Amino acid sequence: MKCTRCKAKAEVHLRAHNAGFCRPCYLEYFRRQVERTIARERMIGADDHVLVAVSGGKDSLALWDVLVGLGYRTTGLYLGLGIGEYSDRSHEKVETFAAARSLPLEVRTLAEQGAGLAVPDVAAATRRAPCAACGAMKRHFFDAAAHEGRFDVLATGHNLDDEAARLLGNVLRWQRDHLARQRPVLEPSHPKFVRKVKPLYLLSEYETAVYAFMRGIDYIVEECPNAEGATQLVYKDALDRLEAASPGTKRAFVKEYVRTIRPVFDTAAARDAPGECEACGMPAFGVLCSFCSLVREVEHKRARRAAAGLDA
Ligand code: SF4
Ligand SMILES: [Zn+2]
Ligand SMILES: [Zn+2]
Repeated sequence: MKCTRCKAKAEVHLRAHNAGFCRPCYLEYFRRQVERTIARERMIGADDHVLVAVSGGKDSLALWDVLVGLGYRTTGLYLGLGIGEYSDRSHEKVETFAAARSLPLEVRTLAEQGAGLAVPDVAAATRRAPCAACGAMKRHFFDAAAHEGRFDVLATGHNLDDEAARLLGNVLRWQRDHLARQRPVLEPSHPKFVRKVKPLYLLSEYETAVYAFMRGIDYIVEECPNAEGATQLVYKDALDRLEAASPGTKRAFVKEYVRTIRPVFDTAAARDAPGECEACGMPAFGVLCSFCSLVREVEHKRARRAAAGLDA
């Protein structure tokens, strides 16, 4: 196959776009896609300082790489989740990436926030699925870091496959609140929140993997050990089959949702503005934000175990 743009030998074939690209044209294509998405959705202003949440995986590191290439002022944020060797290795990848490019990086770990706050411990103590506990904690730390560092925007590396799987899950249960909040740009609903954006939401996992490979980005290939049990993977698998039978399905599913259907859910999202968490001061819909509720639950469990003589 020949490159759609320059007719050289194509190195990558994108069935969803019925296009092929040589290496330089593919990198250009990828950057333009991100640039257009940012402009169309008004994600990032020219003077904005962007906090990029990086996990060490291909998507978030590719995102950071593109944003730097597009000239944005960025700082990386890595959150150590305490998931054994997976967390150690992902931390290493992020440090190496930032050091090689002299990019500023902030590192926070759940362990330094208090005993028993690593993802596996919180999941066990609260009997939640690890991803549910992890999601609540990540949201809290990303929001808090963006607020404390006075950033304008928080960018995450969610790709098309992530967004399509999430959308399918929300549609299957008709979760109106979740559907209303599923958007590529989430404007702040409280002065302590910043705008949250997903510049890769129309680029597939395959496309970001190719970009990361071509740019020589060394990312963590293995999945988080908790990903295996996640329902999202079942949805991803179902969507992969639909995509194989009809290329472009995922993109149409997400793009048309955002463009034509999501506005219908806007009224569902119109809930009261959040107040502030009694414990940490971040926005919350109850007395405590969901992170502080989790912490409290963990503390109660620890106290009960200590009282029963089960802990040292
Ligand atoms: S797979 Fe689940 S536990 Fe692992 S990083 Fe993702 S959300 Fe967290
Ligand atoms: Zn070309
Ligand atoms: Zn709180």
